[in-house]
Amino acid sequence: MSDSATYDVAIIGGGIAGAGAGAMLADKCRCVILESEEQPGYHSTGRSAATFILNYGNAPIRALTRASESFFIAPPRHISEHSLLSPRGHLALAEEGGRAHLDAHLQESQGLEEVSSESAVAKVPILRREPILAAAYEADARDIDVNSLHQGWLRQFKRAGGEIRTKAQVTQLAQKGGLWELETPDGTLCAKTVINAAGAWADKVAGLAGLTPVGLTPMRRSIAVIPAPAGHDVMTWPLVSDVQERWYMKPDAGQLFVSPADEDPVEPHDVFADDMVLAEGLHRFETATSVEVTRVLRSWAGLRTFAPDRTPVVGFDPSAENFFWLAGQGGYGIQTSPAISQVAAALITKQPTAEIVSDETIVALSPARFRN
Ligand SMILES: Cc1cc2nc3c(=O)[nH]c(=O)nc-3n(C[C@H](O)[C@H](O)[C@H](O)COP(=O)(O)OP(=O)(O)OC[C@H]3O[C@@H](n4cnc5c(N)ncnc54)[C@H](O)[C@@H]3O)c2cc1C
Repeated sequence: MSDSATYDVAIIGGGIAGAGAGAMLADKCRCVILESEEQPGYHSTGRSAATFILNYGNAPIRALTRASESFFIAPPRHISEHSLLSPRGHLALAEEGGRAHLDAHLQESQGLEEVSSESAVAKVPILRREPILAAAYEADARDIDVNSLHQGWLRQFKRAGGEIRTKAQVTQLAQKGGLWELETPDGTLCAKTVINAAGAWADKVAGLAGLTPVGLTPMRRSIAVIPAPAGHDVMTWPLVSDVQERWYMKPDAGQLFVSPADEDPVEPHDVFADDMVLAEGLHRFETATSVEVTRVLRSWAGLRTFAPDRTPVVGFDPSAENFFWLAGQGGYGIQTSPAISQVAAALITKQPTAEIVSDETIVALSPARFRN
């Protein structure tokens, strides 16, 4: 391709999805990442809870998470010289109405042990014993070094010749003469293949291309950071959640994250935390613990974007040539990033995927499920 503004692949979105797919593709073809913001990672990728939980999400998510584990533990040296995972643990509590949920969770999970309420309190001494009907512990849940992974993907992309354009919102998208034409504030560029890695905006981007949306819903999730309770070394504590996902808490840099685990559907935008929703979450946290929250140090919110079946949308759209979806990662886009990026690159370069995940998972991810 001789025209300097013509690429093999244009990736819309520089979050973990676009960066990961770009890193896997840049040594195989000429690629560009187009990112609306000044910094890639400004939206969901920079706002996550940075947790890796094998027993989280539906079957395709679990398959992708499992397939990502070895990469996280021993990433290539140019991504990180250290494991991207560190020990954390996950304590799931059955509070009022939660026993059946915990039983179902135990049944569908591996490496999870039921623990007594006394043992739950021994792990996290601020928990009140009375509201805990039952509990389960997943020792293998870990923290993810998200920034190292995201920056590592971008480094790999650039080293292999990939270009990153920031403040480059794609505003128009049309196919002409077998190429996609993408309009950005700096002008038009062309690409044979477009990857739609626009996170919460992915259905809007499909709309620019004249495609029917797949039905993605961005859902707000908020987090408040509070001081560690006096006299406790919180960094040894696991992530603690209510098994019905009504609240969770997690130690971070000597403080505590508390989330109401909200899933409020919203339009894609630069989202911020809703004070009333945070207050509800903090109230649930106070009810479950001996802590009275007197100060919120800071708060933020991010968008977790789900397809109707809560499975990511990864693959070529059967209704348009060379339009590839990489969206709908919900609350799992970091922990699945290594495998989902490999799957995307393999599908785009027509390589086998069987060594990454099963054919059944590839079918489950395909946007064809929305195109009858
Ligand atoms: C509070 C919270 C906690 C979470 N916790 C976890 C967790 O513990 N573990 C986990 O695995 N996942 C977690 N997630 C989910 C994870 O953060 C997301 O799944 C992931 O970051 C999605 O990545 P993305 O690249 O698709 O989206 P984004 O990071 O949002 O990137 C999409 C990018 O596309 C750009 N864009 C959009 N439209 C255009 C356009 N027209 N032109 C150019 N650029 C465009 C946007 O500017 C944006 O930067 C959490 C999410 C939240 C909000």
